[in-house]
Amino acid sequence: MIDTSRRNHPIDLRSDTVTRPTPAMRNAMAEAEVGDDVFGDDPTVHRLQEVAAEVLGKEAALFLPSGTQSNLCALLSHCERGDEYIVGQTAHTYKLEAGGAAVLGSIQPQPLDFLPDGTLDLDQVAANIKPDDPHFAKTRLLCLENTQNGKVLPMKYLARARDFADQHGLSLHLDGARIFNASVKLDVPVTQISCYFDSVSVCMSKGLCAPVGSVLCGSKQLIGAAHRWRKMLGGGMRQAGVLAAAGILAITEQVKHLQQDHDNALMLAHSLIGLDPLDIDHDGIHTNMIFARVEEGTLPELMREMRERGVLIHGFANNLRLVTHHDFKQEQIARVVNAFKDSLSAL
Ligand SMILES: *Cc1c(COP(=O)(O)O)cnc(C)c1O
Repeated sequence: MIDTSRRNHPIDLRSDTVTRPTPAMRNAMAEAEVGDDVFGDDPTVHRLQEVAAEVLGKEAALFLPSGTQSNLCALLSHCERGDEYIVGQTAHTYKLEAGGAAVLGSIQPQPLDFLPDGTLDLDQVAANIKPDDPHFAKTRLLCLENTQNGKVLPMKYLARARDFADQHGLSLHLDGARIFNASVKLDVPVTQISCYFDSVSVCMSKGLCAPVGSVLCGSKQLIGAAHRWRKMLGGGMRQAGVLAAAGILAITEQVKHLQQDHDNALMLAHSLIGLDPLDIDHDGIHTNMIFARVEEGTLPELMREMRERGVLIHGFANNLRLVTHHDFKQEQIARVVNAFKDSLSAL
């Protein structure tokens, strides 16, 4: 039975970006003290940046409108024209940011395949560092992502990557869009992850529920450079304290709720066991993402059938991705399971 009221209030598992600001955020936004942040006058933006720097254990932080701009400002600050960064083939900073580093920074990417655990093979990275020779771009930066497709990079690997970067004179940037999911999963302070990196970009507008914004954290010098790039890219915002107020709650109060999202992902995946031909990668569920293979060519139709039953899902090719988040509640799991049962049998 297709229930049209459900179609109008769908369960949305496409991404954790769909989370809406919490009531506490709405209040904080309404009451935020603001000023013109381009003049450096917004006290709430200042406070967010101080809190972010402290939470991530860095000297300084910068509030940016998106994770894409945050990563781009980091790349532009680490690298100059003609430099190169080494990055995962499917990394957000390479594949999903419209080529910004190359287009706007003249920074050459050297993409490498991720290993199944979301790391880059450091021997392969070493083999791709260019010799000091005018034929080549200058390899300057190594970029990692944590979580990577929901997977948490092993702590030992982070230490090895830091040693590796030092040994080869590279800087190390983390696209930590979901770094708090990693710290919650490992049950370690987020500084135990961020400490290995020269810069870390953190999204506040995903599972942490802020409506807009990322923070880039690093040394005072790096953040100073990023500040100039942000202005150039059009990311200087005026009374941005309205947004920063939500961000402060995102990186403080909301972090503890991520555990529930992780629990819900496991519970949802468990409830979908036996639903052929949905082939779920159970071992790959570390945090709030579930990946499943579907039968060749059936994904668009499955997405449509699910939408008819009030559940929004998303994927590429034959791979379906389900993302749990603050606005998805445990009580909704049964509805999702039923929608899958009915949709799969309707294919
Ligand atoms: C979402 C995301 C970003 C930034 O995305 P914006 O939509 O620009 O905020 C960067 N890296 C990863 C891994 C992400 O998931």
